[in-house]
Amino acid sequence: MNLQRTLLDIELQHWRRAGRPARLWWRDDDARGPTPALERLLALSLWHGVPLTLAVIPDEDPASLTWSLATCPLATVAQHGVDHTNRRDGQAAGEFPHEWRRLRVATQLRAGWARLQALPGAQPVFVPPWNDIHPELPGALEDCGYLGWSAWADAGDRGPLPRIDAHLDLLRWKSGVRFRGEGRFLEAFRAALRARRRAGRWEAPIGLLTHHLDHDEAAWVFLAEFLDWTRARPELAWRSLGELLAEQAGARHQAA
Ligand SMILES: [Zn+2]
Repeated sequence: MNLQRTLLDIELQHWRRAGRPARLWWRDDDARGPTPALERLLALSLWHGVPLTLAVIPDEDPASLTWSLATCPLATVAQHGVDHTNRRDGQAAGEFPHEWRRLRVATQLRAGWARLQALPGAQPVFVPPWNDIHPELPGALEDCGYLGWSAWADAGDRGPLPRIDAHLDLLRWKSGVRFRGEGRFLEAFRAALRARRRAGRWEAPIGLLTHHLDHDEAAWVFLAEFLDWTRARPELAWRSLGELLAEQAGARHQAA
């Protein structure tokens, strides 16, 4: 694994010379209520001083999260779908069947947001389960007044609203969910940094994706170590989702 560390160090030297800190942000999916794993996650955010976006599924009792969130001022709450139920027949999972029209999708989105909006740190930002982008979703999000949305690594229709994606998955999902492994994770991180540097997209954020309910101990240990390491590197700067959305909205305003 030392090879990956060395290669990452070389990549970060480019960023240091350019005087452009790479911007990171952190999204964790699938919270429905308070659990020991969620407390562990929030404690990591607080301890390391790293802003965290919790993508919460609004189908059970979101209000049960209120106390936990109130103790974690660095946490933002986004809406993770409506009920995280797959209503598709084919291979790719999605909450909204392909034949649903924009109004029906928008009605579902609104009902979900209504259950979340009173939570501390809640922001009208949508995170589609399975990163599924229904063809009517971008328009429906705009109809409902969302500030933005977040999916996986620049895939699919971007639509009219700001979109801040995730790029680095802490876990592997094929044949049993488990920690991705330090070597694979750091290689993906280096590739994301290199792609932005080569394209001159220094400002483009890199999103860390975690799923606290699915972490094995190796994932937890690495996550804590990664947060610690990134906080000590001047070439890396954590941003909150709110900060990134405000920047994107400002850039769009200037371009218009
Ligand atoms: Zn999910």
